[in-house]
Amino acid sequence: MPAIATTNPATGETVKTFTAATEAQIDAAIARAAARFTDYRRTDFAQRARWTHAAADLLEAEADEVAAMMTLEMGKTLASAKAEALKCVKGFRFYADHAEALLADEPAEASTVNASRAFARYQPLGVVLAVMPWNFPLWQAVRFAAPALMAGNVGLLKHASNVPQTALYLADLLSRAGFPDGCFQTLLIGSGAVERVLRDPRVAAATLTGSEPAGRSVAAIAGDEVKHTVLELGGSDPFIVMPSADLEAAVATAVKARVQNNGQSCIAAKRFIVHADIYDDFVAKFTDQMAALRVGDPTDPETDVGPLATEQGRDEVEQQVDTAAAAGAVIRCGGKRLDRPGWFYPPTVVTDITRDMALFTEEVFGPVASVYRAADIDEAIEIANATTFGLGSNAWTRDEAEISRFADEIEAGQVFINGMTVSYPELPFGGIKRSGYGRELSGHGIREFCNLKTVWVA
Ligand code: NAP
Repeated sequence: MPAIATTNPATGETVKTFTAATEAQIDAAIARAAARFTDYRRTDFAQRARWTHAAADLLEAEADEVAAMMTLEMGKTLASAKAEALKCVKGFRFYADHAEALLADEPAEASTVNASRAFARYQPLGVVLAVMPWNFPLWQAVRFAAPALMAGNVGLLKHASNVPQTALYLADLLSRAGFPDGCFQTLLIGSGAVERVLRDPRVAAATLTGSEPAGRSVAAIAGDEVKHTVLELGGSDPFIVMPSADLEAAVATAVKARVQNNGQSCIAAKRFIVHADIYDDFVAKFTDQMAALRVGDPTDPETDVGPLATEQGRDEVEQQVDTAAAAGAVIRCGGKRLDRPGWFYPPTVVTDITRDMALFTEEVFGPVASVYRAADIDEAIEIANATTFGLGSNAWTRDEAEISRFADEIEAGQVFINGMTVSYPELPFGGIKRSGYGRELSGHGIREFCNLKTVWVA
């Protein structure tokens, strides 16, 4: 199990370590949360919105410091860390402004159900456990916290062990914003303690964003306890390019979609599926642009791609590429770790991949693009769907009939046409197949942790 510590991925140095919560501390935190829920659930939307807006305002003012903390803990560039902090500000404000309408009673036609009135009402479930990943250390947690708190739930955050400072910051932010003690707590625990929390009868439900094995484990425990879960797991998103596409825009977006967050995004485009007529042109231009990216210190404004977040993550990516190359895949650029301290791996383009290679079957969590040639749209869709994952997807074409086929036939939670997959507070976010189930964001996300209670009056 990883230590709970801040280790700078750009240098490999551990700068701060933390002690995991004891059993007594875990128990006290759950007790505090459960006790708080009994009165917090009765606060009205206006009060919750004031606190949520206050959190947004504080975070906006502190965005530079928060960005520096995220960069230190997981290596994303400072610019992307600041953008993440500001995205969280928007997420807080979205739910502060819209939660009441999103959770409004849903009236039914009373006479058809022999009632004088009948409606469905959304009510909070209680204490919700959030198990979160390090890759968007603030956004992942905020996109749970904002809707959960606005719905009247209380939260316990078990964050990834390598982002403890960001985890503690969020609980502190919400407390300073005015949320009463116990509404939102960070539990510094390893993954081994998740089962104990989840099985606690005072914990009502859980959400996990992370890898497939972590999701499977949490879902199994929650299933055994008959507790609701939302799972946001890995992805191996396709990015299809057809001959009618604006090729220059497609290439530029492909680069961004692959290397965003140093290549460590669940919704990064990972498999590029290109029509045979434009394949050579695409590969040449894409390789040139990937090779031209500046890899280095994530605090340097000139840097495009920083280090991977963990040594283990870097080693896994390296192994996926090395085994593919040994089996005949062609490395067009990159493919060799940087010879310097820290966990740097360069933007890499790989072609001539076969279906038995890990590059095809597994998620690649680093700046490595796999490019495939498709003879026509049927083959492009077949390759896109030949994965156990189904999170996001991208398709580039100016042909309306093709747009319609991609929208209908790609097996994914989202299809972005002539763009890259992005999460917006206003749009549902989630996956199918082994990318998980349930939805975050939008009205769907806030309703996940609500009891939809039918009320029938004679
Ligand atoms: P991870 O290793 O699965 O960790 C995620 C969280 O789960 C961490 O808090 C981790 O704690 C905990 N965890 C790990 N194993 C567990 C277990 N057996 N039982 C309970 N908790 C466990 O994933 P990661 O490396 O942080 O993040 C990368 C993965 O997340 C990728 O697969 C990525 O695609 C996915 N992701 C998905 C989304 C989405 O919305 N679909 C968004 C972002 C990331 P420790 O740190 O203490 O091990």
